[in-house]
Amino acid sequence: MPDVTSETKLQRIGSNNAPSSWGLGDGQAIPWEYAPAPESREIVTIKDRYGLFINGREVDAEDKGTFGTVNPATEEILSQVAKATPADADRAVRAARKAQRYSWGQLAGRERAKYLFRIARILQERSREFAVLESIDSGKPIKESRDVDVPLAAAHFWYYAGWADKLDYAFPGRVARPLGVAAQIIPWNFPLLMLAWKIAPALAAGNTVVLKPASTTPLTALLFAEVCREADLPPGTVNIITGPGSIGMHLVTHPGIDKVAFTGSTDVGKKIARGVAGTDKGLTLELGGKAANIVFEDAALDQAVEGIVNGIYFNQGEVCCAGSRLLAQESIVEPLIEKLKDRLSTIRVGDPLDKNTDVGAINSRAQLEKITELVESGKAEGADFYQPACDLPERGYFFRPTLFTNVAQSHRIAQEEIFGPVLSVLTFRTPDEAVEKANNTPYGLSAGIWTEKGSRILSMATKMKAGVVWANTFNKFDPTSPFGGYKESGYGREGGMHGLHAYVRLEDR
Ligand code: NDP
Repeated sequence: MPDVTSETKLQRIGSNNAPSSWGLGDGQAIPWEYAPAPESREIVTIKDRYGLFINGREVDAEDKGTFGTVNPATEEILSQVAKATPADADRAVRAARKAQRYSWGQLAGRERAKYLFRIARILQERSREFAVLESIDSGKPIKESRDVDVPLAAAHFWYYAGWADKLDYAFPGRVARPLGVAAQIIPWNFPLLMLAWKIAPALAAGNTVVLKPASTTPLTALLFAEVCREADLPPGTVNIITGPGSIGMHLVTHPGIDKVAFTGSTDVGKKIARGVAGTDKGLTLELGGKAANIVFEDAALDQAVEGIVNGIYFNQGEVCCAGSRLLAQESIVEPLIEKLKDRLSTIRVGDPLDKNTDVGAINSRAQLEKITELVESGKAEGADFYQPACDLPERGYFFRPTLFTNVAQSHRIAQEEIFGPVLSVLTFRTPDEAVEKANNTPYGLSAGIWTEKGSRILSMATKMKAGVVWANTFNKFDPTSPFGGYKESGYGREGGMHGLHAYVRLEDR
């Protein structure tokens, strides 16, 4: 605890007031502040221009078109990136088909495994470079890209490398054949990690891929192209084409594509489902969410507070499985909210490259506008609004951690995916009411349960319409564990053996 006896030791730092639980009195300043701890950018070389990665080579778009990618923390344009045309997408699909037929698709599982192990190792060796680049291009705090995104991306390659020569064990009694060429469209909230979720199982099963990253976060995918070259991956096995959503749709409807995997908004997911309807293409959709984090009166409240904070403020709340609805049992709602407000006052918002930053920059101006609009709707509809006092950088797309109490089920902030650092608090009296409220959303991706009773965890988990249910924790990810949704959160599973299943055709022996 800080030395609060000496007034002279207290420094007023901005408007960060001490949590009331410290007993310092109203308005008393926190007696210390973290010194800036910026991660160096030196390790990364961002080129002025990036091409498409087709057939193992970096090439310009056919019409030489480019678009800029922006650092959301500073609004500076980082680089110009090739804007693929439909003709470029066709080239990428042809390259992937050739590799599937004549090189990658012909390799034995143990040979594919060696490449995947090599990619995992290179990702680990270059992890700092990837983490810094991810934070610069996406706005996420370096401690998250360094400790979560990049290690988990490498872990996916390790994990699926292990399966590549064991498909007979994964699907006993059946012969697992690759589907062919996969079109993979990924979002901006976990750019490298979503790339790994998509590419690792596809390659392990013998498929080749054409991947389209989100337009606001193309840089780590393009750095991954270098990894593919370093690992000597046969040309055409992985192709990466940057460009607008329409290029994604061109891939989805392309006759040369056998499988589509998409992570992103529910609206685009529906368009993609329509795009593949009537074909025999495989499809996995990982879409939005509006997860309930349910706290019972017997829960360890301090731990629950950490789980709630991690659930909604991790990655600025730009997480499909974010615990954006807190359902608190009525008897503990007051102490819980008080603890939560105390904890919010210690969250540091700012430079994503500072190792002390908890909440970085919102990914884009458009996303910041969406969050702002939904927060305004919450105020207008009558929920109680709270934000801790904290200074935001002058430039860049930042948003304070936000808490709404007295939220009604009908409020937009209780129904719509905000995809920002905004928590809506609702209450319940009985477990049945908690289940009913938790399931009362078009989504069904994830949920959290906080209670000391194991029997209650099991009983609640079976009643939740959610693909993932965490108990006394939140946002835990592991490559061995399947992840995916119900209802408007999509279908199909990624991760684990289920993730492998989405990339094979099973035949009788
Ligand atoms: P999108 O769903 O538009 O973007 C996801 C990916 O799909 C991007 O690569 C995008 O390309 C591509 N895309 C866009 N339109 C099409 C299309 N018609 N056909 C094929 N691919 C397409 O998400 P947004 O960036 O617009 O975010 C909007 C909202 O979606 C967020 O506020 C959030 O609620 C939700 N979302 C959910 C995510 C999740 O993890 N489930 C991830 C991201 C967003 P491009 O970037 O070039 O437009």
